[in-house]
Amino acid sequence: MMGRQVGAQDQLFYSFNLDNHVPSDHLLRGIDRFLDLSELRKHLGPFYSDIGRPSIDPELLVRMLIVGYCFGIRSERRLCEEVHLNLAYRWFCCLGLQDPVPDHSTFSKNRHGRFRESGALRCLFESVLQRCMIEGLVRGEGFAADATIVKADAQRQRGVAREDAIWGNPQEASRAIREYLTALEETNDCCANFKNVSLTDPAATWTAAPGGPAFYAYSNNYLIDLQAGIIVDVEPSTVNKTAEVEATRAMIERVEDKLEMKPSRFVADTNYGSAAMLGWLVEEKHIEPHVPVWDKSNRQDGTFSTIEFVWDGQANEYRCPAGKALRCNRRRFTKPRSHVTSEGTVQYRASQLDCLSCPLKARCCPNMRCRQIARSIHEGARDEARRIATTQRYRQSRKDRKKVEILFAHLKRILKLDKLRLRGFSGAHDEFLLAATAQNLRRMAKWLLPQAGKAALAVS
Ligand code: SF4
Repeated sequence: MMGRQVGAQDQLFYSFNLDNHVPSDHLLRGIDRFLDLSELRKHLGPFYSDIGRPSIDPELLVRMLIVGYCFGIRSERRLCEEVHLNLAYRWFCCLGLQDPVPDHSTFSKNRHGRFRESGALRCLFESVLQRCMIEGLVRGEGFAADATIVKADAQRQRGVAREDAIWGNPQEASRAIREYLTALEETNDCCANFKNVSLTDPAATWTAAPGGPAFYAYSNNYLIDLQAGIIVDVEPSTVNKTAEVEATRAMIERVEDKLEMKPSRFVADTNYGSAAMLGWLVEEKHIEPHVPVWDKSNRQDGTFSTIEFVWDGQANEYRCPAGKALRCNRRRFTKPRSHVTSEGTVQYRASQLDCLSCPLKARCCPNMRCRQIARSIHEGARDEARRIATTQRYRQSRKDRKKVEILFAHLKRILKLDKLRLRGFSGAHDEFLLAATAQNLRRMAKWLLPQAGKAALAVS
């Protein structure tokens, strides 16, 4: 017999426990188990007045933000609706059935004001990271870094040539423009090499992606621990290799300062294999670079490549295939010189007499009087990276590197952070930090909840 739903929505009293309606294996249960906001509350204390009406609990706002970033709901308006309607979200935010959800405007005001001034999101990220360390998910043995491009909230039609940009009165400009102008004033070179600038978000980089039209974007830089793929630091930057490498150096320094953690190996792709970066890793930080060397010395025209010249460190010279010496100090100067060029290289030259009479000249330097080799001042570090690239550990590191790429794929496909909603570097910073926090929480919940669940069952 076909049944009929009998409407009984006018019942006055219910016996209802929200906790019973959230499945035991719900992701938010796992996240709730590992989330401790007491540190954040302490951190935010000085930013609230001691008198006046009580504010909306910052813990509620942060919990809502975590829900939003864990489930790809980044619109504040939609997040408020979802928290209002979804029982699991209400349970996670410690809201009763009748408790009102904060208005989206209050919510965004706090986010752009007090949270940003106080660095609350960084504090949240670090407290979650500390918990990951306590749970044994971070070993600190190896770190990997990479960057991904995330579109800015700026339409390409609002872009102008840099010299045509007119900003008007800074007091009446938007927050993103004010920030940009302040940075421009302070550093005098903020994004100075951009040819095209957005009138909506001037700090965003005009960048081209393969196979599509150019767009405005920021780079999201991750530094992860290779044990369980936990993100140990995150930093936004402009979209170019130099800025990404600088951001990675800043992250390694910050992790060392704040967490007293320095890896024994650093894993990254060729973008991080410049001589300066390898020199910094090996000579200054004493970290093994598991990074392909950025090498342009191989010749394609059939003449001898640098690799065919033998380096003699003791004598400070190269030996060419004809057995002659290439030196950097052939001429005598009254004042001793370092011979280091502005590119950070030292030029080693063969003797003109040797080369002019050499039978190998046509295969060595057919268009020059003598052969020259530019040796980087960090060549020792480059050699170390080349040596590591032949080891079994390096092959493992290449596989480990995929963990960063998986996190970026997850960021864009599951967390839906393929386009920013907030503008300016501070907006990108906030969004990347929250997304990384959400990713760490999700990973911790998924890795540890089954064990924790079993333990809880055993206790009960
Ligand atoms: S051309 Fe000069 S540098 Fe090259 S192999 Fe001959 S002697 Fe050596």
